[in-house]
Amino acid sequence: KKIIIIGGVAGGASTAARLRRLDEKAEIIMFERDEFISFANCGLPYYIGERIKERDRLFVQTPEAMKARFHIDVRIHSEVIHIDTDKKVVRVNSKLRGIYEESYDYLVLSPGAKAIKPNIPGIESSKILTLRNIPDTDRIKSYVDQKDVKNAVVIGGGFIGVEMVENLRERGLNVTLVEAAPHILAPFDSDMAVIPEKELMDNGVRLILGDGVKAFSETGDQIEITLNSDTKLRADIVILAIGVLPDTTFLKESGIEVGARGHIIVNERMQTNKEGVYAVGDAVEVTDYVTKLKTAIPLAGPANKQGRIAADNIAGRNSSYKGTQGTSILKVFGLTAASTGANERTLLKAGIPYKTITIHPVSHASYYPGAVPITLKLIFHEDGRILGAQGVGYDGVDKRIDVIATVIRLGGTVEDLTELELSYAPPFSSAKDPVNMAGYVAQ
Ligand code: FAD
Repeated sequence: KKIIIIGGVAGGASTAARLRRLDEKAEIIMFERDEFISFANCGLPYYIGERIKERDRLFVQTPEAMKARFHIDVRIHSEVIHIDTDKKVVRVNSKLRGIYEESYDYLVLSPGAKAIKPNIPGIESSKILTLRNIPDTDRIKSYVDQKDVKNAVVIGGGFIGVEMVENLRERGLNVTLVEAAPHILAPFDSDMAVIPEKELMDNGVRLILGDGVKAFSETGDQIEITLNSDTKLRADIVILAIGVLPDTTFLKESGIEVGARGHIIVNERMQTNKEGVYAVGDAVEVTDYVTKLKTAIPLAGPANKQGRIAADNIAGRNSSYKGTQGTSILKVFGLTAASTGANERTLLKAGIPYKTITIHPVSHASYYPGAVPITLKLIFHEDGRILGAQGVGYDGVDKRIDVIATVIRLGGTVEDLTELELSYAPPFSSAKDPVNMAGYVAQ
């Protein structure tokens, strides 16, 4: 068997490793356009903020280690520019070897997603930076390392935007966050998002909501940002983090089916419409686990799981991906914000009736030092099925959301939440855990 993998990071690397475990003999070639494979995208903001101090820590695997450990033919600086799915051949543009072709029996696409750069005046300024990979990180960090860089504007209040805001503040910059929507962090409802918004402001961040960017223009050493409201901001550096689009333009003539925004269409086995071609990660369309609608959710956990499933199927097993529920978590200075499943907005859009409750339990027994309140919102169907949850607080949010995420995955109800027997001693929880409490209140 000869397997070609396109993309060497989350989805690509986990496909390769799993394939090798299942098949000692297969020939596995991995093409990566950039210099690096299997790096920790999720750690990049924290390296810029110098919480992660050594750059080497960002590399989970190197091409050499991947070759030595898994016997995978890793070819970096090699961009796949064309696929002929009838002849089963890819065309590669390699820095080292020029343009050449390579045949495959199976092909796995994991090209990921790229930062959206809207077509607005001044967007090409070198002071406007996006963050996806190691070269982007080096570029941003070398800017921030300069002593005279003092003011940053971050555009986009999603996960990457907020993580960059925090890390630029950690480096001592004055930071303004601009968000076009009425609130930051789209997975949260507005009643929950106000808490991380306050945390940002308490930590000296200037927050501008409900206002998008109209134009950029360079003025001497700085860049001027004009918002739709005609508010003008000045900065030494702009981080643009307004979302991502699948990196799939190279599939244009391949006949591989993509959706309206370019996401690759796959079935439950992660197979595309073309024989022997699989696709995983940020570039694919998935089923929302709760609403059952088609969507795209660019997260590392799903990319890794999908890679494993594609590898299983190529190796002759029968694995299927049941959907993404969007469980995610974010550190906002001292605060944790986490969510899973659907929020009110997605349910309204899907026409699914729901009820909500919000409770404010403490993170552990209130008589034991250090207990702090959690704001926990539960969203559930009239029949009791849990549809989503959001949690915000200074301690203990992660485990509550993870427990509820598990219950959602197993099709559980508010009744189930009341019955869960969770670990308890005063430093950790209460005899009635916040998750039980959410169940009681919802019942
Ligand atoms: P990628 O990791 O983007 O890898 C795709 C690779 O394919 C790229 O290296 C690209 O160069 C290569 N490629 C593309 N086209 C070609 C081609 N034609 N030929 C050859 N190579 C090609 N997720 C979380 O769950 N939690 C987090 O905390 C989190 N933090 C993040 C922070 C940042 C700054 C970023 C950028 C992402 C973060 N994510 C996080 C998202 C997570 O990193 C992605 O979901 C995950 O990396 C997707 O994996 P992928 O394999 O689909 O794509």
